[in-house]
Amino acid sequence: MIHFVGAGPGAVDLITVRGQKLLEQADVVIYAGSLVNPGLLDCVKRNCKVYNSATMTLEEVLEVMEQAENEGKMTVRLHTGDPCLYGAIREQMDWLDEKKIPYDSCPGVSSFCGAASALNLEYTLPNVSQSVVITRMQGRTSVPEKETVASFASHGATMVLFLSTGLLEQLEQQLVEGGYTPDTPAAIVYKATWPDEEKYVCTVSDLAKTAKEHQITKTALIIVGDVVTHHFYERSKLYDPRFTTEFREAK
Ligand code: SAH
Repeated sequence: MIHFVGAGPGAVDLITVRGQKLLEQADVVIYAGSLVNPGLLDCVKRNCKVYNSATMTLEEVLEVMEQAENEGKMTVRLHTGDPCLYGAIREQMDWLDEKKIPYDSCPGVSSFCGAASALNLEYTLPNVSQSVVITRMQGRTSVPEKETVASFASHGATMVLFLSTGLLEQLEQQLVEGGYTPDTPAAIVYKATWPDEEKYVCTVSDLAKTAKEHQITKTALIIVGDVVTHHFYERSKLYDPRFTTEFREAK
């Protein structure tokens, strides 16, 4: 059996209890070494075989999985954050389906949640934004034409950009072209929840400059929207004394 496990955003105590138990039981671990904190591997069994997928091709990863399966072993495929975002898990799962190798998936804390905690942010403030757009700039991986940053920017909603730290000048342009004003609050969170986490609040027009100043070129998320400075929001209805809910009568 193969278990795809979300490692969380970085801090070793931000893996789920279920994920940690699977790691403790694993005979084989294949971890995404470019972003997964190696400290998470401290809990594996002494005879557990550990592979770093950063130096492997998809074919090599699949070969390790198949061999482990043939030997009746349990494998954990450890992906950063939550595997469902930019995790390249579908191609592994399709191949496992073909080989009739069983697998399941254990969620993790995504880095966009880790980044919110780093800044004590609520992405969905009443009257400011009630939506979070999770996207990326086009890099070597293409982005469908209908999903340009400019088109999402036209909504003015909260936006979180993965995998885009190397493209901040173009990002600034697209954000403004789409409709955010240059002074819209923005933030850069580098290595959210890791011991060497860094976070900077700036504006849309300052993103590239801020990253350059602090030499941030990767492992960062960009957050855009008025929620970053959280002014002018409406109180929640849920906790309003005048509001009746399923659990509480209005006073
Ligand atoms: N599945 C992962 C994302 C993998 S894509 C998740 O749910 O978080 C890799 C990108 O995620 C990086 O380029 C960076 O943009 C972002 N990222 C991952 N971990 C991060 C962290 N701790 N802090 C900031 N950004 C992070």
